[in-house]
Amino acid sequence: MTPANAETAVHDYHVHSNYSDGAFLRRMVDAAASAGLDGVGIADHCNVFPSEDARRHRRALGFNLDLTYERRREAIEDVCERADVRVFDAVEMDYHPDHEGEIREFLDDTGFDYAVGSVHDLDGVNVHFAAHFADKSEEEHRALVDRYFEKLVALVDSELFAIAAHPDLVERNPHLRGFATDDHYERVADAFERSRTVPEINAGRLLDDYGEFHPAPELLDTLADRGVGVTVGTDSHEPDVIAPRVEAIEEELTERGLESVTVAE
Ligand SMILES: [Zn+2]
Ligand SMILES: [Zn+2]
Repeated sequence: MTPANAETAVHDYHVHSNYSDGAFLRRMVDAAASAGLDGVGIADHCNVFPSEDARRHRRALGFNLDLTYERRREAIEDVCERADVRVFDAVEMDYHPDHEGEIREFLDDTGFDYAVGSVHDLDGVNVHFAAHFADKSEEEHRALVDRYFEKLVALVDSELFAIAAHPDLVERNPHLRGFATDDHYERVADAFERSRTVPEINAGRLLDDYGEFHPAPELLDTLADRGVGVTVGTDSHEPDVIAPRVEAIEEELTERGLESVTVAE
């Protein structure tokens, strides 16, 4: 793969491993190296919400990075020794405005290279779970999308994270798609303009039925107009999608005149 600008180091800051819901760590790192990346960030899912519901959810999914991050850190160090790519010890944290204290304490204690923050839940349910949102009224859909952007702005304002992941995740759910407004985008762009937190261009569903980047073109253009840069995040869970997603992101950045930003230097 040839980067759009060969002078610039290309980092993919958002890749999963078997320490959450991705393929084996070594396979992900090898794939990042053969994709020609200069750096790859292993950002496994992590949730530290104290409720019993959240605990049950972590147990059910096996999302245990809050308990296994030290073991993964050793594994990353081992892999690093042989890998032809820089590997970052990162995390994709679930965000909720009510749990900023727990998140801050965890991040201070653990000292990851950087943290990616995500709003995944609405109405207590993961946005990806289309069935939950299917039978709601248009008014309810509109209110949920409003709530999503409210939480996203709070995430950006909290400055807990270096990166804000997939900053219009609601678009991935067909029942919630199309309710985002110019006003939402302006508020999100305002928040990024005043924050140290950088939005991500995310290719997690680029090659699937959804076929779009996050954020959608209109929000990307709003960010570009404000001079807000983005980080590259393929959100890959399998090794073979890293290279094509990076290539697609590079093309999109060039086309929209967006600057790619580095973190954790
Ligand atoms: Zn995510
Ligand atoms: Zn992810």
